[in-house]
Amino acid sequence: MSNIIVQKYGGSSVANPKRIAQVARRIIGYRRKGYDLVVVVSALGDTTDDLLKLAYKITSSPSERELDMLISTGEQISVALLAMAIHKLGDEAISFTGAQVGIITDSAHTQARIIKINTSRIRKELQQKKIVIVAGFQGVDLSKEITTLGRGGSDLTAVALAQALKAKSCEIYTDVEGVYTADPRIVLQARKLEKLSYDEMLELASLGTQVLQARCVLLAKRFNIPIMVRSSFTNKGGTMISQEVKAMEKVVVSAVTLNKNEAKITMRDVPDKPGIAAKIFKTIADEGISVDMIVQNISRTGFTDLSFTVTKENLARKVKIARKVGQQIGAGDVIADQDIARVSIVGVGMKSHSGIAANMFESLAENRINIEMISTSEISISCVIRKKFAERAVQAIHKKFKL
Ligand code: ASP
Ligand code: MG
Repeated sequence: MSNIIVQKYGGSSVANPKRIAQVARRIIGYRRKGYDLVVVVSALGDTTDDLLKLAYKITSSPSERELDMLISTGEQISVALLAMAIHKLGDEAISFTGAQVGIITDSAHTQARIIKINTSRIRKELQQKKIVIVAGFQGVDLSKEITTLGRGGSDLTAVALAQALKAKSCEIYTDVEGVYTADPRIVLQARKLEKLSYDEMLELASLGTQVLQARCVLLAKRFNIPIMVRSSFTNKGGTMISQEVKAMEKVVVSAVTLNKNEAKITMRDVPDKPGIAAKIFKTIADEGISVDMIVQNISRTGFTDLSFTVTKENLARKVKIARKVGQQIGAGDVIADQDIARVSIVGVGMKSHSGIAANMFESLAENRINIEMISTSEISISCVIRKKFAERAVQAIHKKFKL
Protein backbone atom coordinates (compact mmCIF):
# COMPACT_ATOMS: atom_id res chain seq x y z
CA MET A 1 0.00 0.00 0.00
CA SER A 2 1.19 3.48 -0.85
CA ASN A 3 1.56 6.39 1.49
CA ILE A 4 -0.76 8.53 -0.61
CA ILE A 5 -3.91 10.17 0.74
CA VAL A 6 -6.39 11.65 -1.71
CA GLN A 7 -8.46 14.48 -0.26
CA LYS A 8 -11.24 16.32 -2.06
CA TYR A 9 -12.52 19.71 -0.94
CA GLY A 10 -15.94 20.85 -2.15
CA GLY A 11 -16.95 24.32 -3.28
CA SER A 12 -18.16 25.46 0.14
CA SER A 13 -14.86 24.40 1.76
CA VAL A 14 -12.93 26.77 -0.51
CA ALA A 15 -15.63 29.44 -0.93
CA ASN A 16 -13.41 32.39 0.07
CA PRO A 17 -9.76 33.27 0.83
CA LYS A 18 -10.18 32.61 4.55
CA ARG A 19 -11.51 29.12 3.95
CA ILE A 20 -8.83 28.41 1.37
CA ALA A 21 -6.22 29.29 4.02
CA GLN A 22 -7.96 26.94 6.48
CA VAL A 23 -7.89 24.12 3.95
CA ALA A 24 -4.20 24.82 3.27
CA ARG A 25 -3.46 24.47 6.99
CA ARG A 26 -5.35 21.20 7.21
CA ILE A 27 -3.48 19.79 4.21
CA ILE A 28 -0.12 20.80 5.67
CA GLY A 29 -1.09 19.11 8.94
CA TYR A 30 -1.41 15.81 7.04
CA ARG A 31 1.82 16.46 5.16
CA ARG A 32 3.64 16.83 8.51
CA LYS A 33 2.39 13.42 9.55
CA GLY A 34 4.39 12.05 6.62
CA TYR A 35 1.68 11.40 4.05
CA ASP A 36 1.95 12.14 0.34
CA LEU A 37 -1.01 14.28 -0.54
CA VAL A 38 -3.04 14.51 -3.72
CA VAL A 39 -5.73 17.12 -3.28
CA VAL A 40 -8.74 17.53 -5.57
CA VAL A 41 -10.66 20.81 -5.43
CA SER A 42 -14.04 21.97 -6.73
CA ALA A 43 -14.77 25.46 -7.97
CA LEU A 44 -15.15 28.20 -5.34
CA GLY A 45 -18.67 28.37 -3.88
CA ASP A 46 -21.29 28.62 -6.60
CA THR A 47 -18.87 29.42 -9.42
CA THR A 48 -20.06 26.59 -11.67
CA ASP A 49 -23.70 27.70 -11.38
CA ASP A 50 -22.68 31.30 -12.07
CA LEU A 51 -20.71 30.30 -15.16
CA LEU A 52 -23.64 28.27 -16.46
CA LYS A 53 -25.99 31.22 -15.93
CA LEU A 54 -23.61 33.41 -17.91
CA ALA A 55 -23.61 30.97 -20.79
CA TYR A 56 -27.40 30.87 -20.88
CA LYS A 57 -27.48 34.66 -20.94
CA ILE A 58 -25.60 34.48 -24.22
CA THR A 59 -27.67 31.72 -25.79
CA SER A 60 -30.36 29.26 -24.77
CA SER A 61 -28.50 26.45 -26.54
CA PRO A 62 -24.77 26.77 -25.91
CA SER A 63 -22.48 24.28 -27.64
CA GLU A 64 -21.47 21.55 -25.20
CA ARG A 65 -17.84 21.80 -26.18
CA GLU A 66 -17.82 25.50 -25.32
CA LEU A 67 -19.74 24.84 -22.10
CA ASP A 68 -16.94 22.52 -20.99
CA MET A 69 -14.37 25.11 -21.99
CA LEU A 70 -16.22 27.59 -19.79
CA ILE A 71 -17.16 25.62 -16.69
CA SER A 72 -13.80 23.88 -16.40
CA THR A 73 -12.29 27.28 -15.60
CA GLY A 74 -13.93 27.29 -12.14
CA GLU A 75 -11.64 24.53 -10.87
CA GLN A 76 -8.61 26.09 -12.51
CA ILE A 77 -9.09 29.12 -10.26
CA SER A 78 -9.41 27.13 -7.06
CA VAL A 79 -6.37 24.88 -7.60
CA ALA A 80 -4.12 27.87 -8.27
CA LEU A 81 -5.37 29.77 -5.21
CA LEU A 82 -4.95 26.73 -2.97
CA ALA A 83 -1.39 26.17 -4.19
CA MET A 84 -0.61 29.82 -3.41
CA ALA A 85 -2.13 29.48 0.07
CA ILE A 86 0.11 26.47 0.76
CA HIS A 87 3.19 28.32 -0.56
CA LYS A 88 2.42 31.19 1.77
CA LEU A 89 2.57 28.80 4.72
CA GLY A 90 6.00 27.67 3.54
CA ASP A 91 5.23 24.29 2.00
CA GLU A 92 5.68 23.06 -1.55
CA ALA A 93 2.67 22.53 -3.73
CA ILE A 94 1.86 22.49 -7.42
CA SER A 95 -1.52 22.78 -9.15
CA PHE A 96 -2.64 21.00 -12.30
CA THR A 97 -5.59 20.89 -14.66
CA GLY A 98 -7.14 17.51 -15.43
CA ALA A 99 -5.44 17.48 -18.82
CA GLN A 100 -2.02 18.15 -17.33
CA VAL A 101 -2.18 15.11 -15.06
CA GLY A 102 -3.49 12.84 -17.79
CA ILE A 103 -7.13 12.37 -16.81
CA ILE A 104 -8.26 10.95 -20.14
CA THR A 105 -12.01 10.79 -20.79
CA ASP A 106 -14.36 9.93 -23.62
CA SER A 107 -15.76 12.80 -25.70
CA ALA A 108 -19.21 13.07 -24.10
CA HIS A 109 -19.04 16.77 -23.28
CA THR A 110 -20.58 17.79 -19.91
CA GLN A 111 -21.04 14.09 -18.97
CA ALA A 112 -17.70 12.53 -19.85
CA ARG A 113 -16.44 9.24 -18.44
CA ILE A 114 -12.89 8.71 -17.30
CA ILE A 115 -11.14 6.14 -19.48
CA LYS A 116 -7.74 6.15 -17.83
CA ILE A 117 -5.42 8.22 -15.72
CA ASN A 118 -1.76 8.50 -16.50
CA THR A 119 -0.24 8.94 -13.05
CA SER A 120 3.41 9.52 -13.98
CA ARG A 121 3.31 13.31 -13.62
CA ILE A 122 1.65 13.13 -10.20
CA ARG A 123 4.10 10.50 -9.00
CA LYS A 124 7.06 12.57 -10.15
CA GLU A 125 5.86 15.61 -8.21
CA LEU A 126 5.11 13.54 -5.12
CA GLN A 127 8.65 12.15 -5.24
CA GLN A 128 9.88 15.72 -5.13
CA LYS A 129 7.91 16.11 -1.91
CA LYS A 130 5.31 18.41 -3.37
CA ILE A 131 1.66 18.50 -2.44
CA VAL A 132 -0.17 17.85 -5.71
CA ILE A 133 -3.37 19.78 -6.31
CA VAL A 134 -5.64 18.61 -9.11
CA ALA A 135 -8.63 20.40 -10.65
CA GLY A 136 -11.73 18.29 -10.04
CA PHE A 137 -14.59 17.67 -12.47
CA GLN A 138 -12.49 17.83 -15.66
CA GLY A 139 -10.44 15.82 -18.08
CA VAL A 140 -9.35 15.76 -21.68
CA ASP A 141 -10.38 13.49 -24.52
CA LEU A 142 -8.08 11.81 -27.02
CA SER A 143 -8.26 14.81 -29.39
CA LYS A 144 -7.19 17.13 -26.56
CA GLU A 145 -10.64 18.63 -26.07
CA ILE A 146 -11.45 19.70 -22.51
CA THR A 147 -14.31 17.70 -21.00
CA THR A 148 -16.24 17.79 -17.71
CA LEU A 149 -17.59 14.86 -15.73
CA GLY A 150 -21.13 15.93 -14.85
CA ARG A 151 -22.26 18.08 -11.92
CA GLY A 152 -20.58 17.16 -8.66
CA GLY A 153 -17.86 15.48 -10.71
CA SER A 154 -14.97 16.40 -8.43
CA ASP A 155 -16.00 13.50 -6.20
CA LEU A 156 -15.47 11.24 -9.18
CA THR A 157 -12.05 12.76 -9.87
CA ALA A 158 -11.04 12.02 -6.27
CA VAL A 159 -12.17 8.39 -6.29
CA ALA A 160 -10.65 7.76 -9.73
CA LEU A 161 -7.33 9.21 -8.56
CA ALA A 162 -7.44 7.14 -5.37
CA GLN A 163 -7.91 4.05 -7.52
CA ALA A 164 -5.22 4.92 -10.07
CA LEU A 165 -2.68 5.83 -7.37
CA LYS A 166 -3.62 2.92 -5.07
CA ALA A 167 -4.07 5.49 -2.33
CA LYS A 168 -4.17 4.60 1.33
CA SER A 169 -7.43 6.50 1.77
CA CYS A 170 -9.88 8.79 0.03
CA GLU A 171 -11.45 11.60 2.03
CA ILE A 172 -14.22 13.84 0.75
CA TYR A 173 -14.43 17.11 2.69
CA THR A 174 -17.68 19.02 2.64
CA ASP A 175 -19.71 21.47 4.75
CA VAL A 176 -21.53 18.79 6.75
CA GLU A 177 -20.05 16.27 9.16
CA GLY A 178 -21.03 13.24 7.11
CA VAL A 179 -24.16 11.43 6.01
CA TYR A 180 -27.10 11.82 8.40
CA THR A 181 -30.19 9.73 9.19
CA ALA A 182 -32.13 12.66 7.65
CA ASP A 183 -31.42 16.22 6.58
CA PRO A 184 -30.62 17.95 9.92
CA ARG A 185 -32.32 21.09 8.63
CA ILE A 186 -35.58 19.13 8.56
CA VAL A 187 -35.13 16.74 11.47
CA LEU A 188 -33.47 18.24 14.55
CA GLN A 189 -32.76 14.80 16.02
CA ALA A 190 -30.99 13.54 12.89
CA ARG A 191 -27.79 11.63 13.69
CA LYS A 192 -24.57 11.33 11.78
CA LEU A 193 -24.06 7.77 10.53
CA GLU A 194 -20.70 6.18 11.37
CA LYS A 195 -20.79 3.88 8.39
CA LEU A 196 -22.84 3.02 5.34
CA SER A 197 -22.52 0.45 2.56
CA TYR A 198 -21.83 1.51 -1.02
CA ASP A 199 -25.31 0.35 -2.04
CA GLU A 200 -27.02 2.41 0.65
CA MET A 201 -25.02 5.47 -0.31
CA LEU A 202 -25.84 4.90 -3.97
CA GLU A 203 -29.56 4.76 -3.26
CA LEU A 204 -29.36 7.82 -1.02
CA ALA A 205 -27.42 9.78 -3.62
CA SER A 206 -29.90 8.96 -6.36
CA LEU A 207 -32.92 9.55 -4.09
CA GLY A 208 -31.93 13.07 -3.10
CA THR A 209 -29.13 13.08 -0.53
CA GLN A 210 -26.65 15.53 -1.92
CA VAL A 211 -23.51 14.65 0.01
CA LEU A 212 -21.82 12.55 -2.69
CA GLN A 213 -22.22 12.18 -6.42
CA ALA A 214 -23.79 8.81 -7.33
CA ARG A 215 -21.26 8.03 -10.07
CA CYS A 216 -18.35 8.31 -7.68
CA VAL A 217 -19.98 5.80 -5.32
CA LEU A 218 -20.40 3.36 -8.22
CA LEU A 219 -16.72 3.65 -9.02
CA ALA A 220 -15.73 3.27 -5.37
CA LYS A 221 -17.87 0.15 -5.13
CA ARG A 222 -16.41 -1.36 -8.27
CA PHE A 223 -12.84 -1.03 -7.00
CA ASN A 224 -13.70 -1.35 -3.32
CA ILE A 225 -12.27 2.02 -2.33
CA PRO A 226 -13.57 3.14 1.08
CA ILE A 227 -14.61 6.78 1.14
CA MET A 228 -14.62 8.94 4.26
CA VAL A 229 -17.07 11.85 4.04
CA ARG A 230 -16.28 14.52 6.63
CA SER A 231 -16.40 18.21 7.38
CA SER A 232 -13.62 20.61 6.49
CA PHE A 233 -14.73 22.87 9.35
CA THR A 234 -14.16 20.47 12.27
CA ASN A 235 -11.80 17.67 13.23
CA LYS A 236 -14.54 15.14 13.90
CA GLY A 237 -14.59 11.80 12.12
CA GLY A 238 -17.21 11.54 9.37
CA THR A 239 -19.13 8.73 7.70
CA MET A 240 -17.22 5.78 6.27
CA ILE A 241 -18.67 4.35 3.09
CA SER A 242 -17.45 0.86 2.37
CA GLN A 243 -18.32 -2.70 1.48
CA GLU A 244 -21.34 -4.19 3.17
CA VAL A 245 -20.54 -6.24 6.27
CA LYS A 246 -22.87 -8.58 8.10
CA ALA A 247 -23.39 -6.21 11.05
CA MET A 248 -24.87 -3.56 8.76
CA GLU A 249 -27.90 -5.76 8.13
CA LYS A 250 -28.97 -5.39 11.74
CA VAL A 251 -29.88 -1.81 10.99
CA VAL A 252 -33.09 -2.10 9.02
CA VAL A 253 -33.49 1.51 7.95
CA SER A 254 -30.38 3.68 7.83
CA ALA A 255 -31.77 6.97 6.60
CA VAL A 256 -34.76 8.82 5.22
CA THR A 257 -34.29 11.19 2.32
CA LEU A 258 -36.29 13.69 0.33
CA ASN A 259 -36.31 14.75 -3.30
CA LYS A 260 -38.25 17.79 -4.47
CA ASN A 261 -36.68 17.98 -7.89
CA GLU A 262 -39.15 15.75 -9.66
CA ALA A 263 -42.43 16.43 -11.41
CA LYS A 264 -45.19 14.02 -12.31
CA ILE A 265 -46.47 13.79 -15.87
CA THR A 266 -49.85 12.12 -16.28
CA MET A 267 -51.20 10.91 -19.61
CA ARG A 268 -54.98 10.51 -19.51
CA ASP A 269 -57.03 7.90 -21.32
CA VAL A 270 -54.20 5.91 -22.79
CA PRO A 271 -55.49 2.95 -24.84
CA ASP A 272 -54.93 -0.22 -22.82
CA LYS A 273 -53.37 -2.35 -25.52
CA PRO A 274 -50.12 -4.29 -25.95
CA GLY A 275 -47.27 -2.14 -27.28
CA ILE A 276 -48.58 1.22 -26.09
CA ALA A 277 -46.29 1.60 -23.05
CA ALA A 278 -43.38 0.45 -25.19
CA LYS A 279 -44.16 3.12 -27.78
CA ILE A 280 -44.50 5.90 -25.16
CA PHE A 281 -41.35 5.14 -23.23
CA LYS A 282 -39.27 4.37 -26.32
CA THR A 283 -40.16 7.79 -27.76
CA ILE A 284 -39.31 9.49 -24.46
CA ALA A 285 -36.04 7.60 -24.10
CA ASP A 286 -35.03 8.44 -27.66
CA GLU A 287 -35.37 12.10 -26.68
CA GLY A 288 -32.77 11.52 -23.96
CA ILE A 289 -35.27 11.90 -21.12
CA SER A 290 -34.92 9.57 -18.18
CA VAL A 291 -38.04 8.50 -16.42
CA ASP A 292 -38.05 7.45 -12.80
CA MET A 293 -41.22 6.03 -11.25
CA ILE A 294 -44.04 4.76 -13.45
CA VAL A 295 -47.61 4.02 -12.37
CA GLN A 296 -50.37 2.67 -14.57
CA ASN A 297 -53.91 2.41 -13.25
CA ILE A 298 -56.13 -0.57 -13.97
CA SER A 299 -58.52 0.05 -16.80
CA ARG A 300 -62.21 -0.71 -16.79
CA THR A 301 -63.03 0.90 -20.08
CA GLY A 302 -60.10 -0.04 -22.26
CA PHE A 303 -58.40 3.25 -21.41
CA THR A 304 -56.08 3.93 -18.52
CA ASP A 305 -54.19 6.81 -16.87
CA LEU A 306 -50.43 6.57 -16.93
CA SER A 307 -48.19 8.66 -14.67
CA PHE A 308 -44.44 8.91 -14.50
CA THR A 309 -41.89 11.14 -12.80
CA VAL A 310 -39.05 13.08 -14.41
CA THR A 311 -36.67 15.74 -13.14
CA LYS A 312 -38.04 19.28 -13.33
CA GLU A 313 -35.33 20.47 -15.73
CA ASN A 314 -36.77 21.38 -19.13
CA LEU A 315 -40.18 20.20 -17.98
CA ALA A 316 -42.00 22.09 -20.73
CA ARG A 317 -40.08 20.16 -23.36
CA LYS A 318 -40.79 16.84 -21.66
CA VAL A 319 -44.51 17.59 -21.54
CA LYS A 320 -44.46 18.56 -25.19
CA ILE A 321 -42.90 15.23 -26.13
CA ALA A 322 -45.44 13.33 -24.03
CA ARG A 323 -48.27 15.27 -25.74
CA LYS A 324 -46.90 14.42 -29.14
CA VAL A 325 -46.68 10.70 -28.52
CA GLY A 326 -50.08 10.92 -26.77
CA GLN A 327 -51.62 12.22 -29.97
CA GLN A 328 -49.95 9.52 -32.02
CA ILE A 329 -51.47 6.74 -29.91
CA GLY A 330 -54.86 8.36 -29.44
CA ALA A 331 -54.53 9.21 -25.75
CA GLY A 332 -56.21 12.11 -23.94
CA ASP A 333 -54.83 15.10 -22.06
CA VAL A 334 -51.28 15.34 -20.69
CA ILE A 335 -50.85 17.14 -17.35
CA ALA A 336 -47.70 18.10 -15.46
CA ASP A 337 -47.67 18.37 -11.68
CA GLN A 338 -44.72 20.08 -10.01
CA ASP A 339 -46.09 20.02 -6.47
CA ILE A 340 -44.89 16.56 -5.60
CA ALA A 341 -42.13 15.32 -3.33
CA ARG A 342 -40.59 11.92 -3.01
CA VAL A 343 -39.73 10.56 0.44
CA SER A 344 -37.62 7.45 0.62
CA ILE A 345 -36.16 5.16 3.22
CA VAL A 346 -32.94 3.27 2.61
CA GLY A 347 -31.30 0.39 4.46
CA VAL A 348 -29.53 -2.88 3.66
CA GLY A 349 -31.40 -4.56 6.51
CA MET A 350 -34.60 -4.42 4.45
CA LYS A 351 -33.32 -7.45 2.56
CA SER A 352 -33.83 -9.60 5.64
CA HIS A 353 -36.70 -7.89 7.46
CA SER A 354 -40.38 -7.66 6.64
CA GLY A 355 -43.09 -5.13 7.44
CA ILE A 356 -40.93 -2.12 6.64
CA ALA A 357 -43.21 -0.79 3.91
CA ALA A 358 -46.24 -1.17 6.15
CA ASN A 359 -44.54 0.87 8.86
CA MET A 360 -43.64 3.60 6.43
CA PHE A 361 -47.18 3.80 5.02
CA GLU A 362 -48.58 3.79 8.54
CA SER A 363 -46.52 6.77 9.59
CA LEU A 364 -47.79 8.69 6.56
CA ALA A 365 -51.37 7.62 7.30
CA GLU A 366 -51.07 8.75 10.93
CA ASN A 367 -50.23 12.18 9.57
CA ARG A 368 -53.06 12.13 7.01
CA ILE A 369 -50.63 12.22 4.14
CA ASN A 370 -51.87 10.58 0.97
CA ILE A 371 -49.52 8.35 -1.02
CA GLU A 372 -49.73 8.96 -4.77
CA MET A 373 -47.05 6.63 -6.10
CA ILE A 374 -44.90 3.91 -4.58
CA SER A 375 -41.73 2.27 -5.75
CA THR A 376 -39.34 -0.14 -4.10
CA SER A 377 -35.93 -1.64 -4.63
CA GLU A 378 -34.18 -4.34 -2.64
CA ILE A 379 -32.97 -1.76 -0.13
CA SER A 380 -35.30 1.21 -0.50
CA ILE A 381 -38.95 2.28 -0.50
CA SER A 382 -40.14 5.57 -1.99
CA CYS A 383 -43.49 7.34 -1.82
CA VAL A 384 -44.59 10.30 -3.88
CA ILE A 385 -46.72 12.71 -1.83
CA ARG A 386 -47.88 16.36 -2.03
CA LYS A 387 -44.91 18.68 -1.72
CA LYS A 388 -46.43 20.69 1.13
CA PHE A 389 -46.32 17.59 3.36
CA ALA A 390 -42.70 16.73 2.53
CA GLU A 391 -41.02 17.92 5.73
CA ARG A 392 -43.75 16.55 7.96
CA ALA A 393 -43.43 13.18 6.25
CA VAL A 394 -39.66 13.04 6.76
CA GLN A 395 -40.06 13.92 10.45
CA ALA A 396 -42.79 11.33 10.95
CA ILE A 397 -40.84 8.54 9.26
CA HIS A 398 -37.66 9.40 11.13
CA LYS A 399 -39.59 9.09 14.37
CA LYS A 400 -41.44 5.93 13.38
CA PHE A 401 -38.22 4.03 12.66
CA LYS A 402 -36.49 5.55 15.72
CA LEU A 403 -33.59 6.71 13.59
N1 ASP B 1 -17.84 22.49 -9.62
C1 ASP B 1 -18.53 21.38 -10.17
C2 ASP B 1 -20.01 21.46 -9.83
O1 ASP B 1 -20.42 22.36 -9.13
C3 ASP B 1 -17.95 20.07 -9.75
C4 ASP B 1 -18.08 19.77 -8.29
O2 ASP B 1 -18.49 20.60 -7.48
O3 ASP B 1 -17.75 18.65 -7.89
O4 ASP B 1 -20.75 20.64 -10.26
MG1 MG C 1 -19.75 22.33 -6.65
